Amino acid sequence: MQAFDYVAPASVQEAVAVLAKHGAAARVLAGGTDLIIQAREGRRDVAVMVDVKGIAELTSITHGGDGSLRIGAATSCAKIYGDAQIAKRFPALIDSASLIGGIQIQSRASLGGNLCNSGPAGDSIPTLIVLGATCEITGPGGSRSVPVEQFCTAPGRNVLQNGEMLVALSFPAPAGKSGAAFERFIPRNEMDIAVANAATSVTLSADGSRFESARIAIGAVAPTPLFVPAAAAALAGQPVSPETIAKASEAAQAAASPITDMRGSIDQRRHLVGVLVKRTINTAVARARG
Ligand SMILES: Cc1cc2nc3c(=O)[nH]c(=O)nc-3n(C[C@H](O)[C@H](O)[C@H](O)COP(=O)(O)OP(=O)(O)OC[C@H]3O[C@@H](n4cnc5c(N)ncnc54)[C@H](O)[C@@H]3O)c2cc1C
Repeated sequence: MQAFDYVAPASVQEAVAVLAKHGAAARVLAGGTDLIIQAREGRRDVAVMVDVKGIAELTSITHGGDGSLRIGAATSCAKIYGDAQIAKRFPALIDSASLIGGIQIQSRASLGGNLCNSGPAGDSIPTLIVLGATCEITGPGGSRSVPVEQFCTAPGRNVLQNGEMLVALSFPAPAGKSGAAFERFIPRNEMDIAVANAATSVTLSADGSRFESARIAIGAVAPTPLFVPAAAAALAGQPVSPETIAKASEAAQAAASPITDMRGSIDQRRHLVGVLVKRTINTAVARARG
């Protein structure tokens, strides 16, 4: 392991000051389940680790009176799936948080770390996108908000500028008669990187027979997790039927630009997008109907 300095700031402002001072040589340390491995393997040079887990705001879950949700960027997956209100109102978040790694990883790994690692296959990112989550970012110049679908810019890259950090993820209150779901395909039961993944959120008409609106996102099939408005548009205003759902899944397949690598081929990945999008639509519909 390379030698590095360790800093544990007590506030966001302190963390930002350290990040701004050291520039690219400093990295935020959340759970460390990506960062420590990358540093040990020499894939990332880190001179200063800025451990943000001691900042209360970074590890808190806040349920707004209006039904909204705010999750500190370094909150562990285990804390998220242990929250009864999240389980009840945002089950798609539990889908993602409960399959990132195994129990040990989940007790450290955060959604903020998953997003800031910005891997094309990050298992929380499609879910964050379809739930309409916003990134709360603070840096030397102040704070700004970025929709999650605009956060990742290339494999391992994102919109964070020098000195900036992700403070929290904010979620709007789920609409009435809405539901969301996430699924992925891996060749074994756990502890693997997705060959493809997908998430869907839907809002249905009052009688549950028609799609009013939807959001669909897919992962591991493009350089970044992909928000696919064309797939959602295939659902909006249409009856809930296998035909409608097939059209949405075809639109998602058309948006994918997968590669062949050791985990899967282009054809397999495109096929999986179709399967996973259909499945997540069906689960989202079932959850919306209650
Ligand atoms: C055995 C194993 C299994 C895994 N399985 C999965 C899996 O199934 N699915 C999956 O998607 N991933 C998996 N991962 C990868 C990893 O666990 C996840 O990506 C995890 O969510 C990362 O969160 P973390 O808190 O550990 O991030 P860290 O490792 O602490 O950070 C990751 C990156 O994000 C940056 N960062 C973290 N927080 C912030 C912040 N608040 N502001 C700015 N930058 C920040 C760090 O500097 C670093 O570059 C696995 C890893 C291991 C070791």
